[in-house]
Amino acid sequence: TPFEPVATRGTTSISPDRAAGHAADAHVATPLSDARSQLAEAVGLLGLTDGLHQMLATPRRELTVAVPLRLDSGESRLYIGHRVQHNFSRGPAKGGLRYAPNVNLDEVRALAMWMTWKCALLDVPYGGAKGGLAIDPREHSMAELERVTRRYTSEILPIIGPERDIPAPDIGTDEQTMAWMMDTYSVNSGYTVPGIVTGKPISLGGSQGRASATSRGVTHIALAALRHVGLEPASSTAAVQGFGKVGADAARFLAEAGVTVTGVSDQYGAVFSAAGLDIGALNDHVRATGSVVGFAGAEPIDGADLLTLDVDLLVPAAVEGVLHDGNAARVGAKVVVEGANGPTTPAADRIMRERGVLVVPDILANAGGVIVSYFEWVQANQAYWWRADEVESRLEERMLSAWQCVLGYADARGLSLRTAATALAVERVAEAHKLRGLYP
Ligand code: GLU
Repeated sequence: TPFEPVATRGTTSISPDRAAGHAADAHVATPLSDARSQLAEAVGLLGLTDGLHQMLATPRRELTVAVPLRLDSGESRLYIGHRVQHNFSRGPAKGGLRYAPNVNLDEVRALAMWMTWKCALLDVPYGGAKGGLAIDPREHSMAELERVTRRYTSEILPIIGPERDIPAPDIGTDEQTMAWMMDTYSVNSGYTVPGIVTGKPISLGGSQGRASATSRGVTHIALAALRHVGLEPASSTAAVQGFGKVGADAARFLAEAGVTVTGVSDQYGAVFSAAGLDIGALNDHVRATGSVVGFAGAEPIDGADLLTLDVDLLVPAAVEGVLHDGNAARVGAKVVVEGANGPTTPAADRIMRERGVLVVPDILANAGGVIVSYFEWVQANQAYWWRADEVESRLEERMLSAWQCVLGYADARGLSLRTAATALAVERVAEAHKLRGLYP
């Protein structure tokens, strides 16, 4: 490869299961090496030059910041944060901000690269970025989270902006985090800048439908993918890994569409019911207890077994690297729709392809979030807000037309959906880059 080798595991965040070690892709693979091998495949297919490959494999700009936090107790702690701007060829950089203890620069680089492809694939006029702070938000009070968010925002202030780089929520952050970021940026600007972040509360210029947009998009794609392989949603079963911002609403929307959701997991455990889980009741249980564990009317199962349940549809909606060469051969689903970013390693992709499992890649399946982020930014820039039904119908139209586009590209060339989606996206970014030319 024309660029430096990526860091090996141990310096990067991976799922505990993947960390446990699996033969082919366990000892060297990280989200960044996964992202780069997907890029390399697309580059080979498109016949791009080494120079362009290098450009696309390397973020345009990275900022690492030390973020001191004064605790409520009066003591202080130091956290390390990053903002990686992978690409600007098609517009401002765009991507979420993750708060998790194992966040590190290589992971943020991978997530930023995937944002570039996601925005290009859905024809949203952005490049890609990602931010991360290596902190466990559950260990902190609201006051501490506010202070650490404002300080992180201050530290990355010089490189963000509504025309430069627009953050949004990701794992461990939410609309309150975005409100604090928007306020910090606005106070420093001297006026209110609603376009600086997306995923804001509706009362501060957030968009209708943004909070549930990723899950809605996952559901549109899941229903289309089930029908594509000849399954009727109303007689299909599903398992959802992760019951957070993406998984919880995806389970609910799938159930509303008639799919029998038999299994759901979170980081604490998993529950199963052959007759189908009552997602509304499960939501109440999670609100009350903080986890799916202990939900009445379902049997407890091992979290790892959720991924290999005998269901029609599997929606991994948690973190990277959960489907790997140690479990891909045992995935029971016919269709995998990636709610998370990077849940499937390249080795798992190959294994599932050979087994005839249809994998709908993250950059297509979970793009609903950034699509409605784009709608939110457009609305904020125009100071004119759309109705919920306008947001929903434009989201559905974009998701389904991207699905058709990827399907057509894959069928015509005999490619997997991931390779097709990545190639389509990389081609668009490469074209923008070539048209703009190299400065100077
Ligand atoms: N964090 C989300 C993602 O991974 C949303 C990013 C955004 O809306 O900018 O796609």
